[in-house]
Amino acid sequence: MNNDFRLPRRRFLRQAAAAGCGLALHGLGSPPAAASAEYSSADVAPGATGLLARPRRSSRVAPVVVISMPVSTDANPRACAWGYLDEILRRAGLFFEHLPPAELEELFHRPPCVAVLAGHLPLTVKQRQALLAWVNRGGCLVGLGGTSGLAELFGVKGERPLAEGWLKVCGDHPVTRGLRSSLHVFGGYTFMPGAAMPLADADTANPLARGSAILENRFGQGRALLLGPDLVFSIVHIQQGISVLQDGKPAPDGSAPINDGVLKAEDGLVLDWQRDRVPAAPDHGPIFLEPVSDELRELILRSIFHLARQQRLLLPVLYYWPRGLDGVGLISHDTDGNDPAKAPAMLEVMRRAQVKSTWLILYPGGYPASFYRQLREQEFEIGIHYDARSGGLHTGWSRENFLFQHQWVRRTTGVEHLYSNKNHYTRWEGRLDFWRWCEEVSMHSDQTRGPSKKGTIGFPLGGSQPYFPLDDESASPRLMNVLEVNLLTQDLVVTCPPEYGPQLLDSAMRHHGVAHFLFHPAHILKPGVADALTKLLDYGRAQGLEWWTNEQIYRWESQRRRVTATFDSDSGVTLYSPRPLGQATLLLLRPGPEAQALRVNGQTVPGVRRDLHGFDFDAFTFDLAGQTKVQVG
Ligand SMILES: [Zn+2]
Repeated sequence: MNNDFRLPRRRFLRQAAAAGCGLALHGLGSPPAAASAEYSSADVAPGATGLLARPRRSSRVAPVVVISMPVSTDANPRACAWGYLDEILRRAGLFFEHLPPAELEELFHRPPCVAVLAGHLPLTVKQRQALLAWVNRGGCLVGLGGTSGLAELFGVKGERPLAEGWLKVCGDHPVTRGLRSSLHVFGGYTFMPGAAMPLADADTANPLARGSAILENRFGQGRALLLGPDLVFSIVHIQQGISVLQDGKPAPDGSAPINDGVLKAEDGLVLDWQRDRVPAAPDHGPIFLEPVSDELRELILRSIFHLARQQRLLLPVLYYWPRGLDGVGLISHDTDGNDPAKAPAMLEVMRRAQVKSTWLILYPGGYPASFYRQLREQEFEIGIHYDARSGGLHTGWSRENFLFQHQWVRRTTGVEHLYSNKNHYTRWEGRLDFWRWCEEVSMHSDQTRGPSKKGTIGFPLGGSQPYFPLDDESASPRLMNVLEVNLLTQDLVVTCPPEYGPQLLDSAMRHHGVAHFLFHPAHILKPGVADALTKLLDYGRAQGLEWWTNEQIYRWESQRRRVTATFDSDSGVTLYSPRPLGQATLLLLRPGPEAQALRVNGQTVPGVRRDLHGFDFDAFTFDLAGQTKVQVG
């Protein structure tokens, strides 16, 4: 399968690639061959992210425009991460296009849109003047990680660098309403409010850096929303952590002794033991119950939704999951011990529940060939449980050992293409090396990143949203073609009270992500484990999620991201899906309380009201294949 990332405009690629630390562009494959011939390929900006622009180059019509440029890391090393805004919008299913600052004048010649500054950009005087004039005339602008020299437009003064802090919501506003996590942020700025209304302050250890962090301003006929902290960098930092070269610092309360001499994903975590964890029932165990990075993503999305609603924009969102599902669940089984007597017991529990799960096979194996055949025939997924812990001839941390075990699992199980992996004991070293190894063997998805200790249960390394990591260590940052699906907890009953299960599942569902639980066959016969697993599966279904394999998650996500959109008019959009995407859900932002009607290829499709991150949408579910004309009203 080809790389599933889609590039922004080619021209933009050239510009960014020419600079040292541009957006995530290198090695991401080519624009989709599926682009309709009626469009000039130079104007294709695809993805679920993308859209097919109109043939005339200057005709930008997407509802969301990302203003981005390469920024030197000399002044701000976090600038390497700013291209990740694309990945955040892609995951959300927004259709957007790029506009380099040199072409800001185009904003005056196109339909209304929400423009988003992808970082604290060093704009020229002329570029700043263009944005001031555009917003003054009614444009809507989101600032990320700083004002980009537009303090007057954002209605703030006295910016102060923020090293690390926690956002504290003030007042009631749709952008910040109902958020529950600690909102831990890294980098960016705080401000003194001028004309702007503060929506959140930043609490930080440095009293000089305290101030307003999120502010909304009316400027002339337009509006501006400033997200001062560097949310894009924060998301990457929380997900990818720091390089694992030594034990992490354990939780002071003894709940997470990660300094066990075995290097693993948690050793690189950047969240805070005291401020980012909350007690979970019934034992008040502190865990990372609320996914911080999910909520930081949503602050960006909500800002766009809020400004789009103000302008009554046609804002379609190709929703995260089919059938409008609130989320998806994943059960994985690491075959530690490879006991042929216990595997059938686990399989039987899953079969009774009619749930397909992902079996990750640990070298050197031990199950008979007939068992692997059973898994294959019954459509369970088979992947790798890479062992870099045992320290034997082929079981240390190295690329060669990973490649060896990859080959071994393929040979042993008879599965030609393995889609996913989890590292035994959540082993991890360095920062990005392992994802590079996965890319080398077209291992499309990893599910290693999560807890090995009770006190790191939940979301220690990002949120419930599956994500493509950013290679920000290369000269030209690029997205890596490995979908990371975070792990929330290991075996209920054995590692934590079974009551943690529904609470974690609820957290993932609130953010429409993946609720991923690991159950080892080695533990399935222990008292209470099978019962807890069955109850968790039932609970998830009762909450409206579907249980998928990791491979299903990857396939859906990669196909969803291939859909492109052409905005035909104020009320029309043409979607193009090169491969069939069954029962996809398209959301349309409601500008007011009234429901919107939709015609799909001339046929009326009934919609239902749906909340997405606190905003009202109309949801329409239909099959996407080839070209689909969607008309509102
Ligand atoms: Zn294991």
